Amino acid sequence: MRIGIDLGGTKIEGIAIAENGRETLRRRIAAPRGDYANTLAALTGLVHDIERELGVRGTVGVGIPGTMSPATGLVKNSNSTWLNGRPLAEDLPRLLDREVRFANDANCFALSEATDGAATDADVVFGVIIGTGTGGGIAVRRQLLVGANAIAGEWGHNPLPAARGHESPGPLCYCGRSGCIETFLSGPALARDYAEHCPSTDLRRAGVTAEEVAGRATASEPLADAALARYEDRMARALASVINLLDPDVIVLGGGLSNIDRLYRNVPRLWLPHIFSDRATTRLVRAMHGDSSGVRGAAWLQDQKKEPRRSQRSQSKSILAISACSAVSSYRGSSASGSCASNSLRSRIAMAKR
Ligand SMILES: [Zn+2]
Repeated sequence: MRIGIDLGGTKIEGIAIAENGRETLRRRIAAPRGDYANTLAALTGLVHDIERELGVRGTVGVGIPGTMSPATGLVKNSNSTWLNGRPLAEDLPRLLDREVRFANDANCFALSEATDGAATDADVVFGVIIGTGTGGGIAVRRQLLVGANAIAGEWGHNPLPAARGHESPGPLCYCGRSGCIETFLSGPALARDYAEHCPSTDLRRAGVTAEEVAGRATASEPLADAALARYEDRMARALASVINLLDPDVIVLGGGLSNIDRLYRNVPRLWLPHIFSDRATTRLVRAMHGDSSGVRGAAWLQDQKKEPRRSQRSQSKSILAISACSAVSSYRGSSASGSCASNSLRSRIAMAKR
């Protein structure tokens, strides 16, 4: 049995997947916001509750906001800020008395859709979650690509490509830069863009969400339709840069804005002029598992290949190795199998192209 946990900012969800791939149980509890010790207790309790109910001990994979730093083994880049700098990859395996695999939540999303979702037939998958932010993850032949810095796929904090005059320098991003892709493609960004283009006397703009903008566009409201058109053009440019770099077979959209039907018709038509090719066969598809992809991908982390350990550049302290292929294992005194694994994948991609 594989147990998957999605550690969110407001909720923690757990599922059990049987050996035949069927989901057998699902639990959701509130996340102890701002409290690391209680987060550990909640994760441990959730795993034990699932196992008690099903009467089977399981493997455990956890999707987290942010990632494990390959340099320190500590959580970094999490918008659940109480996790940052914490040794989650050391504490949870000890409390559960077993190996626990971790991965960024967008990586779990990509892995889920590549394993048994909307992109099962694809060699290279780029998964994008567009909601309050814009996360991204890469799966190559159903193996995650994590990268030397554990940020592979985090394209949301690249600048919006081919920015037009009014898009530069662009809105300030929480990461400290301006004009990041996320500041144009997140749900709040779409809502803001719509409001900014409404006449100042127009009361319809007040407090309108991205989902409402999409609904108004469907109802043929010109201002909302224009906002969606700008959004599609920006998404096309942003994803064209991914296609030029990674050349994925499939790009899967998840998150709240993935429910906007017209994206799948219009964005592939708009990205072609920005792609270094006379044609583009990359498909843009909606996630099959919707909001469940993150937790399902966490369960599938168990199936990631392990890479051999590599000698450590820095022997100064105990380090948790975060492997690109194994996603995570806690190895005291070893390191950097993440870059080893990603190099291996890159080699395979290069070989395939020759
Ligand atoms: Zn940013």
